[in-house]
Amino acid sequence: MNVKNNILETIGNTPLIRLNKIVKDLPCEVYAKVEYFNPGNSTKDRMALKMVEVAEKEGKLKPGGTIIECTSGNTGMGLAMAAVVKGYKCIFTTTDKQSQSKVDILRALGAEVIVCPTNVEPEDPRSYYSVASRLNKEIPNSFHFNQYDNLANRLAHYETTGPELWEQTDGKITHFVATAGTGGTVTGTAQFLKEKNPNIQVWAIDVEGSLLTKYFRTGEVDMNEVHPYISEGFGEDFVPGNYDMSVIDYFEQVSDKDGAVVARRLAREEALFCGYSSGSALQGLFQLKDKLKKNDVVVVLLCDHGSRYVAKVYNDQWMAERGFFDVKTFKDVVNARG
Ligand code: PMP
Repeated sequence: MNVKNNILETIGNTPLIRLNKIVKDLPCEVYAKVEYFNPGNSTKDRMALKMVEVAEKEGKLKPGGTIIECTSGNTGMGLAMAAVVKGYKCIFTTTDKQSQSKVDILRALGAEVIVCPTNVEPEDPRSYYSVASRLNKEIPNSFHFNQYDNLANRLAHYETTGPELWEQTDGKITHFVATAGTGGTVTGTAQFLKEKNPNIQVWAIDVEGSLLTKYFRTGEVDMNEVHPYISEGFGEDFVPGNYDMSVIDYFEQVSDKDGAVVARRLAREEALFCGYSSGSALQGLFQLKDKLKKNDVVVVLLCDHGSRYVAKVYNDQWMAERGFFDVKTFKDVVNARG
């Protein structure tokens, strides 16, 4: 019989799919690593499973133990799935900025979700960071994963995403493009690919309002760069421990509007119904098109599925309220760049 023993065995080995219409202005082939084929609908399943496996191996997570993490989204989904299969409890702390449906999804998987106030400093005892570390101290046999600095995050991509791309392109990949949040996806994948071929170009895509791009270019952690943005899942206001900037060749920032508009185009032009950051990743590539040549083989990683964004990017009124959709012409506001 050709069966899987449990849902976790379906993580990874996602398809690489050629983009056909949306990249017609680019000189080369572009393929999408469509990560919503993972069972939790995002690339974060890979690192969630790896973090659990490493914690088990290192004795930090023991049978019947409790997984603690600050998350509302994709990492929580992956951890909750691993916890169900492997018999752990999960407690997630999140902020009241997150939509109720995200909290409900995690609760559906049996996780306990504690909603904390958004507008408090990280050091405040009510913040979601503080609550997670307090619970970690109070609950015996619990482990706070901390996806930002936990190097099992990038290791997951070094061990799986990188080798998959190398095999799927027969070693022909010349460029890898991915959005950068914790840095696990872009760093781990890049570490593997650069070992295979140091000439492969790795482009990290960031969002306006994040300090990562300036940090990459100058080494300066400049809080003046930081302002609120509405794109989700990437960009940071600090530099997580998962980054190894030496394997990244370029950082590019995209706007909230351009990412949203390209996400909608991905659905309409390629039938790829993806999350907000997938549009941002592709928009970043569009902005860098002058660096591409005819024979390049580009892979852009699309992080998650569009279902979590139906009330946002895929809602015309939400888009119009932010100036991303023109209610007179009934069209998305066209990209200013790229
Ligand atoms: N996009 C989305 C939707 C995400 O959830 C994440 C994870 N935070 C990213 C992009 C960035 O991935 P990474 O944290 O590995 O840099």
